[in-house]
Parts: sequence; structure tokens; C-alpha cells
Amino acid sequence: MSTIFSKIIAREVPANIVYQDDRVTAFHDINPAAPVHILIVPNKEIPTMNDATPEDEGVLGHMLLVAAQIAREHNIAESGYRLIINTNADGGQEVFHLHLHLLGGRPLGPMVQR
Ligand code: AMP
Repeated sequence: MSTIFSKIIAREVPANIVYQDDRVTAFHDINPAAPVHILIVPNKEIPTMNDATPEDEGVLGHMLLVAAQIAREHNIAESGYRLIINTNADGGQEVFHLHLHLLGGRPLGPMVQR
């Protein structure tokens, strides 16, 4: 099942895209939770982390390296940032196209609510 993210990747729906190559697309989150909140998304439709296969190892690694590069470009590499992949209900996943959240630009507090 395609989501809005496939339409953003195909540029059929507008988004503030900061990076795109043949494997991933990165764009600003529409409802930012931090001064920098960018989503790094595989162009391939992988619904959740549970659906990733060994074939996806390359793109998953690429997502991390692209996130680190975007963090440098947004001047949050040294101050710090958080990378999150939410999965299914308990993880709080809302869009079922795998994505990596890049969050930074302020102290982000505890990793999870206790
Ligand atoms: P998650 O809860 O991990 O599935 O996160 C989904 C994220 O996608 C949320 O932070 C939303 O604000 C964001 N989002 C949903 N629709 C859009 C959109 N059209 N453009 C950019 N970000 C979006």
C-alpha cells in the first residue's frame, strides 16, 4: 500500500525536499517536533522495519549516512541530534513507509517517557 511519502518521492505532492538520490529522499517533517526535523525515506516502499530484508541492508545504511550528512549541513552535528525509526503501534508509527527521523537543534530530553 502506497502512502503520501511515495507521492512526495515522485514529486506528485509538494514537500520541502532537502536531498534526493536514486535510493533515498529526505524532506522536512510537516509537523516538526524540534528546530530540525527531517525525514529520510527509502525510495523503495518498505512499510515497516519488520519488512526490511537483507536486500535492504545497503539502503538502510545509506539512510544513516545521509542523515549524518544532513545533520552537518544543518549545523547540528556537533551540538547533537537523534535518529529514530518508529515501528508499528507501540512505536507510534503513523505513516507505513519506513522513515528515519532526524531531530536536533535543541536539547531533546530523555530518550523515551518513563
Ligand atoms: P511516524 O509516527 O514515525 O510514522 O512519523 C510520521 C511523520 O510524518 C510525522 O512526524 C508527520 O508529521 C510526518 N508527515 C506526515 N505527512 C507528512 C507530509 N505530507 N510531509 C511531511 N511530513 C509528513
